[in-house]
Amino acid sequence: MKKLLCMMLVFSLQFGNVSMAKVVETDSPYTYEKLKDDLEKLNHQYRAVKVKKIGETHFGRDIYAIRLGKGKKNIVLIGAHHGREWITSMLLMEKLEVYADLYQRKREFGMISTDILNDVSIWFIPMLNPDGVTIQQNKLNLFPKKHLKALVSMNGGLENFERWKANGIGIDLNRQYPAGWKELTDGPPVPFYQFYKGKRPLAAKEIKAVTAFIHDIDPEIAVAYHSAGREIFWNYKNGKHLKRDKKIAKKISTLTGYPLAKPPKHATGGGFTDWFITTYHRPAMTIEVSPLVGETSPPLSVFKTEWERNKYVGLTLAKEAKNLKKRK
Ligand SMILES: [Zn+2]
Repeated sequence: MKKLLCMMLVFSLQFGNVSMAKVVETDSPYTYEKLKDDLEKLNHQYRAVKVKKIGETHFGRDIYAIRLGKGKKNIVLIGAHHGREWITSMLLMEKLEVYADLYQRKREFGMISTDILNDVSIWFIPMLNPDGVTIQQNKLNLFPKKHLKALVSMNGGLENFERWKANGIGIDLNRQYPAGWKELTDGPPVPFYQFYKGKRPLAAKEIKAVTAFIHDIDPEIAVAYHSAGREIFWNYKNGKHLKRDKKIAKKISTLTGYPLAKPPKHATGGGFTDWFITTYHRPAMTIEVSPLVGETSPPLSVFKTEWERNKYVGLTLAKEAKNLKKRK
């Protein structure tokens, strides 16, 4: 133990950072258990990190939102609406830690001053669907035995769950929002591993939690991270502020190298971005990371590139939020 502590100290000193070892690791799949551990550590390590539980899933897992900064204005970044998209949780946790560290040391990131966090707080919801993530990672032993048969059936009889996208009870969380929900007719009529929209909007506990939370913090800008396809959706049914929203989306497109999707492709409805745009008339984006991978999670090998493309997105949007005109 002593030897280990000593090695850790040497490691920390070598990197000029005595008290803080890096918390978030990106070399193995990101799990709900890691999320909980990492949040506890980050909460201790950084003054400006505040962890809040905003709800629970159908199987009792916690849904967290983490505030970084002390700005009165807010933006929000959401990951893992979908089980097989936990790489977006990893991306947001890495972003949280890197920003928190630089902010505490009053440093810039690239050309962006982290002082922006004094004016605009960034809220991270790294894993909205921890039940779905845990199912997708084939950890069925962490669910009640009596639910297993239903899970296999919702998975089309397969016992490998790597394609799982829904929440723990077979609802597709990005088809649950009250914006064009009725017109969604292309999905299955019963719970399934993907695309089932639920009996009514806002039926899933995860969506009740996130919409109530959004109502509380009243964010200027919202982003939902998904995988895959390297594309940005930014508009829904020609919302009120096309010019303003396109300008912001273009900046994110330039940063990430992801093209903007053609609006009609996103007119299916029921999604977070659709709901945020139609409810708040403020900018929102769905950012799809990673090249297309079929019905599974993107491989860890894409993480480094996707991080490089996305690392400035949070601070850039915080700056945009500061400059947005006051709303009536
Ligand atoms: Zn998704």
